[in-house]
Amino acid sequence: PVDQPPPDPTKKTLVVLGTGWGSVSLLKKLDTENYNVIVVSPRNYFLFTPLLPSCTVGTIEHRSIMEPIRNFLRHKKAAVKYYEAEATKIDYEKRIVYVNDESPIKGDVSQTQVSFDMLVVGVGAENATFGIPGVREHGLFLKEVGDAQAIRNRIMDCCETATFKDQSEEERQRLLHMVVVGGGPTGVEFAGELQDFFHSDLKKWIPEIQEKFHVTLVEALPNVLPMFSKQLIDYTEKTFKEETIDIRTKTMVKNVTDKYIEAESTGPDGKKQLERIPYGLLVWATGNALRPLVKDLINQIPAQKDSRRGLAVNEYLVVKGTENVWAVGDCAVANYAPTAQVAAQEGAFLARMFNQMAKSEEIETKLTELSEVQEKAPNAEARNKAFEEIKDLQKRLRRMKGVNPFEYSHQGSLAYIGSEKAVADISWFSGNIASGGTITYFFWRSAYLSMCFSTRNRILVLMDWVKAKVFGRDVSRV
Ligand code: FAD
Ligand code: NAD
Repeated sequence: PVDQPPPDPTKKTLVVLGTGWGSVSLLKKLDTENYNVIVVSPRNYFLFTPLLPSCTVGTIEHRSIMEPIRNFLRHKKAAVKYYEAEATKIDYEKRIVYVNDESPIKGDVSQTQVSFDMLVVGVGAENATFGIPGVREHGLFLKEVGDAQAIRNRIMDCCETATFKDQSEEERQRLLHMVVVGGGPTGVEFAGELQDFFHSDLKKWIPEIQEKFHVTLVEALPNVLPMFSKQLIDYTEKTFKEETIDIRTKTMVKNVTDKYIEAESTGPDGKKQLERIPYGLLVWATGNALRPLVKDLINQIPAQKDSRRGLAVNEYLVVKGTENVWAVGDCAVANYAPTAQVAAQEGAFLARMFNQMAKSEEIETKLTELSEVQEKAPNAEARNKAFEEIKDLQKRLRRMKGVNPFEYSHQGSLAYIGSEKAVADISWFSGNIASGGTITYFFWRSAYLSMCFSTRNRILVLMDWVKAKVFGRDVSRV
């Protein structure tokens, strides 16, 4: 297909891939008047991921943490084009992104291409499975809204099937065994939410599952939440014990079937043993892997030949080996953890830099015009006037060009661990405050509430919390 000309041929075309933390934070702060901005993403909303684990059990309804991208973009100063599509390939040399409409409704054209002068890759990451057989077929992930809904349905299905007439004890036990693989914050938060759901709602609705319902968290390393301080790791493990969530550390899952996982555990004597763990629900939360689009781009750029975990970027977030491609968030490797906090700061940094770049380009054009004026000036007075203006502009340009490189400022780590308790490692001046418990839980709630994307989201989340407290969670299957 032939590319349509950009709406304003005097401006550069900036293509932004993705509508997640990195891209949306860039779009929030970007002065869209400076560029022809085109956004390509299959997800037509921004998702506030920190509260996604709460959606798996209905503490929060998923729409409360979604913000339609169109609603957000319509408030920008200059119009931004949005295509609900997946970028399938970036041709770096030709400066083209190939896009596919992956929605169920397709028109005559469902594949096309978008040209760019500047490109920001903010496509996030996929779920890592490490090639372990059976994970994709039998496990459920926790990354998108659809995942949270699938988990919510599966929990209820397991409970209802376990209480089906004439079900054997052994089968009942299997169906009510909820296994979470991965002891990072996603796995821990989900396990905590699930146990809350059981304690405050499920066991009241279906008392006959009370004895058998059980949550197990499986982690390959010696402890869960490796990014938190030792004191908070201990606190989480103690809280889980009280909540009767089993933590199986030093246990690596090697194979998954429809009814059990096979895991290799290391005993205190260092001996390894392989065991079968039957499950009804399996949630797989073992972190991030590269998206094929990113892998393909890495293969096109010789300077990226050693990149394994994502696009290597320099201190200005430029993809190494390119001049006009930037990467933000989970698909970029800048020596920071793949978190929303990092992605949001990277996006905001790029917006500031692009705003400045546009201004300095404007000044450079003016400078060229002024030097012509100076050359053709009819008298000394006019020449001097132009000279003074040039000096002034050059000073402004020097100030502008001195953009400081990106520096991440870590605000701290927060995680909900169930039974109205949270853990927090907060950076305070040059030190660190570690706290865990109910007060931290209120801090966690207020911090996430204040970080919600919009006032609308904030009000909806608050209403969901009140609703769940007063009426309990909704356990119906959809
Ligand atoms: P994402 O936010 O994942 O966005 C990627 C975007 O790219 C999406 O819009 C997607 O649809 C789009 N996309 C994908 N493929 C393509 C393609 N081919 N073409 C175009 N667009 C594409 N971090 C924290 O700091 N604090 C937390 O409390 C926290 N909680 C979390 C809880 C959960 C359950 C999860 C899963 C993650 C959590 N994180 C948290 C991590 C955080 O969500 C990620 O680090 C963050 O989302 C990364 O932002 P991103 O913009 O790189 O990617
Ligand atoms: P993660 O990478 O943090 O943790 C995954 C865990 O799975 C690791 O501890 C790993 O040892 C374990 N694992 C891997 N393979 C295994 C196997 N075969 N068997 C058993 N265990 C296995 O992943 P995550 O929790 O999904 O988090 C991803 C990113 O998102 C991280 O950067 C995290 O900080 C961020 N995040 C932050 C929050 C928060 O701040 N509250 C919440 C969720 C996610």
